[in-house]
Amino acid sequence: MREDSSASAVQDSSQENELGVVICKSCNEVIYTLPTNGFTKIAGVCGKAECQETSSRSGGRPV
Ligand SMILES: [Zn+2]
Repeated sequence: MREDSSASAVQDSSQENELGVVICKSCNEVIYTLPTNGFTKIAGVCGKAECQETSSRSGGRPV
């Protein structure tokens, strides 16, 4: 039985309007969130060595 997932699926950690997410383009993990005006997805690279290697190997320029 599911209720409306907008209610309490995510714990409120005293931050609001965190609609911008920076996602690792290598492993697709959410690196951090940003307080933005609307939902925004930003491609980044997380701290994992494998991900940083991948991004620098390809020239660091996402297509
Ligand atoms: Zn990553």
